[in-house]
Amino acid sequence: MGDSEDLNSIAYQWCWGSIAPSGPQVWNPLVAEMVTAGSVMLELWEQVLRPRQRADLTDGFAAEAEQSARLAAAFLAGVSRIGHASPARMVSFGARQEPSPAFEQAHTAWREQALRAGLPLPPIGARVRHADPEHITAAVLPRLTGCDCAGYVDGERCRDQDHQGLYVAAYALNRHGADVLHADTVAKAYRATGDPAWDAVRAALVNAVAHHVGIDARSLPHLIRPADPLRLTAFGRLVAQSCRLARGNTLRGFASPHDTLQMMSDRARVHAREAVSRLRVAG
Ligand SMILES: [Zn+2]
Repeated sequence: MGDSEDLNSIAYQWCWGSIAPSGPQVWNPLVAEMVTAGSVMLELWEQVLRPRQRADLTDGFAAEAEQSARLAAAFLAGVSRIGHASPARMVSFGARQEPSPAFEQAHTAWREQALRAGLPLPPIGARVRHADPEHITAAVLPRLTGCDCAGYVDGERCRDQDHQGLYVAAYALNRHGADVLHADTVAKAYRATGDPAWDAVRAALVNAVAHHVGIDARSLPHLIRPADPLRLTAFGRLVAQSCRLARGNTLRGFASPHDTLQMMSDRARVHAREAVSRLRVAG
């Protein structure tokens, strides 16, 4: 076993984000796509949004300053896919690909290395609870971004007034239009979040995005206090666009799970600048 190189990797870097069976690298680390989505949001904010749109987003977030809204927006775009770091999603590696011996080999290699790095994958053939990743995002995010109230499980709203904005933001991510997530859906998703080892993986991913954006993940309640999910509709669309542009990560090929976070951050910024400038040329 190549354990010496595995020492440089940590479990969260083995969560996959996209799969491309024909590429030189079959899968792209989720963390690379998450930090890239954060950078894309920053680029959209700077290069594409008009002053009026930035002011509307800042108001919708009830942020004191536009700078706080901008950083929070980038962070939330990055962590909007945190629900992908769940047992059901991870074991579906390549489920939609045409089976081939080469792909099967790549899948096995990923699984073995991910397990060695400490990713808590369930055993092959085990029954795994399923929930949509976006519902898992809503269930887990408030606890990872500043709510530490005792007596509530993930997905259940605490009663601390200072934390209500975290729930509003987490529930509004991945929603489009007036479609607001129901608390029962979130509670159901909570049961598919996996054991506490998965909480640690998700915490590491969220902290990686926070570090990339330059905030402390648990400071989110000090940056924004959104009260009305319907005022985050335009933001939801920007998040979807940021994730889409981050996943079309073929401009420079996929990242490697052995890359340092600094390398991934640098790539993310370059990728985001290119993707958004192409968008402006095309638009
Ligand atoms: Zn709380």
